Amino acid sequence: MRLVLLGTGGGPRPSGTRFPSSQALVIGDRVIVVDCGNGVAKQLSSAGISPRNLSDLLLTHHHVDHSADLGYLPLISWVEGRSETIGIYGPPPTVGALESILDGYEEDLRKRTASTGRPPFRPMLDPHDIVVPGLVFEDDDVRVTAAFVDHPPFEIALGYRIDSASGSVVVSGDTAPSPNLVDLARGADVLIHEVVHPSAITKLQNGTNASTIADHIRRNHTMLADVGAIAEQAGVRTLVLSHLVPHDVDDGDWLAGLGGFSGRTVVGRDLLEVDIR
Ligand SMILES: [Zn+2]
Repeated sequence: MRLVLLGTGGGPRPSGTRFPSSQALVIGDRVIVVDCGNGVAKQLSSAGISPRNLSDLLLTHHHVDHSADLGYLPLISWVEGRSETIGIYGPPPTVGALESILDGYEEDLRKRTASTGRPPFRPMLDPHDIVVPGLVFEDDDVRVTAAFVDHPPFEIALGYRIDSASGSVVVSGDTAPSPNLVDLARGADVLIHEVVHPSAITKLQNGTNASTIADHIRRNHTMLADVGAIAEQAGVRTLVLSHLVPHDVDDGDWLAGLGGFSGRTVVGRDLLEVDIR
């Protein structure tokens, strides 16, 4: 199994340096993508991974920097020649959101299907709403499990664990420090965790609604000073910092504020391949 960071930025605002946080797990010629903000198909191509091989798409929650390309990424997979099923998993309303997006694509789908003779797109997709934590699916290659994390006001936001014969990778999704996430990540090879640098809060101090936004960040996300202890508690070998807020902090400044983790830490960078073991 290979792990490639497709995007490492937090929040929906585009920047010149980071795409929205997303990651690809490549097992043989099969690709599992966790989160699909805007540009994820482009990032897959830039990483040399064919969107055609997308077998499963895991959505952590419905903030648009994680979900914008929920229809577009599978569509590109189909355009690239995929005809096998794509499993799509996420909190409600994943099934409904996908339907609505595809309704908006209907004219393209009709015309493209007619002009290419491809099998119809919609029946290829197998979407699921995840309403209980635990096993999502298991097959010969992987076992995928999910935990409920803390990202209010979402009733359900998910962290995922992907176990394969060649290692285990956990993605926190967006969350405040979460005991469920620590349990999910216990003993994993790699934990990809979201993080906010304290300078993001300092920058807000003079802006409009600054204290409201700062409160929101602290209740819904994880500050840098807490991330090392989370990784240590979970006992993971490698911590990857991703969903970085803000986008422009130097690697050294991320590492300096981390504290308390005895394993290896990697500051995420778009298109970086991370050694799982
Ligand atoms: Zn979010």
